Amino acid sequence: METLKVRFVADSMLGKLAKWLRVLGCDTRYKSYYGPGVIDQLVEDGGRLLSRRKETTDLYDNAVLIRSTDTGEQMAELRQKIDFVPDPSKWFSRCLICNVLLEAVDTDEARENVPEYVFYKNMTGIRSCPSCERFFWPGTHRERMAGTLMRWGFGLGPDA
Ligand SMILES: [Zn+2]
Repeated sequence: METLKVRFVADSMLGKLAKWLRVLGCDTRYKSYYGPGVIDQLVEDGGRLLSRRKETTDLYDNAVLIRSTDTGEQMAELRQKIDFVPDPSKWFSRCLICNVLLEAVDTDEARENVPEYVFYKNMTGIRSCPSCERFFWPGTHRERMAGTLMRWGFGLGPDA
């Protein structure tokens, strides 16, 4: 099911970067607090740690130190330090809150769960998160996010 080989583990100071990595379709773990040993386990399971603390990144072989506090600059740092080319066809494929892949919904389910104008405009583009059951669809919010990604130098998204 995974679309990218890299699985990121963002430490507690990188919540916004984690959200944007999910927008790009990257599997990104994030918690505002990690208990003892949790990051060790995630890294052992193949996660690549991103952190703003050098004491933390020094502990893991493949961790990436992120210095900036600006999300766009953090993305640039990440792309500079590792080979990171997110596939534009995977943008917006993941729930930004739960980090799980969105699923297509059938027409009846979509009709019952989204505003009418959204349903008639996007009948085929409506997806839902199997974990939190939120519905997502192409629209102005997504266009704005795609615009931000392009400003940061990422390629064209699927609906751009
Ligand atoms: Zn969700």
